[in-house]
Amino acid sequence: MANIVGDTVKARTFDAIVIGSGASGGWAAKELTEKGLKTLVLERGRDVAHIKDYPTTNLYPYELEHRGEITYADKQANPIANRCYAYKEDTKHFFASDEEHPYIQEKEFDWIRGYQVGGKSLIWARQTQRWSQYDFEGPARDGFAVDWPIRYADIAPWYDHVERFVGIAGNKDGLDTLPDGEFLPGYPLNAVEDYFQKTVHQHYGKQRHIISARCAHLSEPKAIHIEQGRVKCQNRVLCQRGCPFGGYFSSNSSTLPWAMKTGNLTLRPFSTVHSILYDQDQQKAIGVKVIDTDSGEEIDFLQRLFL
Ligand SMILES: Cc1cc2nc3c(=O)[nH]c(=O)nc-3n(C[C@H](O)[C@H](O)[C@H](O)COP(=O)(O)OP(=O)(O)OC[C@H]3O[C@@H](n4cnc5c(N)ncnc54)[C@H](O)[C@@H]3O)c2cc1C
Ligand code: SF4
Repeated sequence: MANIVGDTVKARTFDAIVIGSGASGGWAAKELTEKGLKTLVLERGRDVAHIKDYPTTNLYPYELEHRGEITYADKQANPIANRCYAYKEDTKHFFASDEEHPYIQEKEFDWIRGYQVGGKSLIWARQTQRWSQYDFEGPARDGFAVDWPIRYADIAPWYDHVERFVGIAGNKDGLDTLPDGEFLPGYPLNAVEDYFQKTVHQHYGKQRHIISARCAHLSEPKAIHIEQGRVKCQNRVLCQRGCPFGGYFSSNSSTLPWAMKTGNLTLRPFSTVHSILYDQDQQKAIGVKVIDTDSGEEIDFLQRLFL
């Protein structure tokens, strides 16, 4: 920790440090700051401020140089990102470039990354199903992998907690395999889906389930969502561009601004965590070493509580 100078240590010490500002980091920041902890969120990528930094959000197809399509040259340069359905001309700025961030694949693995504030919460497909008791019991029941140390009943109240804040549209379908939650009104099936559902039920009875998937869209926002500055989803399906309505959940529209309002959040983009600082005597992690990707400077941040 050569760069810890007495007079700056205080400024670099926080109650908690969170690495990454995606769905997980944003949520950790919300919980920690709400409880009064001075929290530092370190993000390797650039800042993406809600609304302001969604450059394509309101563009018409004719305003995009290639009408939304990816060029041949881009496909050659980014073969992995290009296998993702959501990687398009209007969204590619939220995907890490394969060319700039190559990685070794011992077995083929398409690693889709979003290196910016908000991470992949900007580009996810917003499908939000609960795991059921069968999923948690699976390893023990079927004899594979390691048994889960918890069961569905342990996690169910936390699903409730998250769903209430995020806003999940879904119907109460009463399925053991896909438990119901704290849902906003679900979206109806469209005509084709409705026909498909009826046909499946005719052939197989109601033990085959065709339901409207649960998704993180504000079908009918509640006070908690309005308080976040989000409004009803307009169903315009341009979500991966970033949604100025906050119609779907992302760290940028929801948890990070919420954490910021507490006054307890410091968000530091362009800060790649290089390593965890470990104190042998205390036998615990005491902070992180960061490389500022703007200046190349190495900085140590310290914390009182480590996640
Ligand atoms: C196209 C697509 C569709 C998807 N659809 C769904 C869906 O419908 N439903 C669903 O449940 N899931 C879906 N997922 C998966 C879901 O998006 C991810 O599981 C989730 O967003 C991961 O959140 P995270 O916070 O763990 O990681 P990320 O969102 O990847 O965030 C990690 C953050 O950490 C930063 N970071 C990484 N390394 C460092 C470092 N060393 N120092 C500092 N910062 C660092 C990154 O820049 C990033 O911002 C989808 C994913 C993709 C790509
Ligand atoms: S209003 Fe709804 S459908 Fe439209 S971009 Fe936002 S979240 Fe997506």
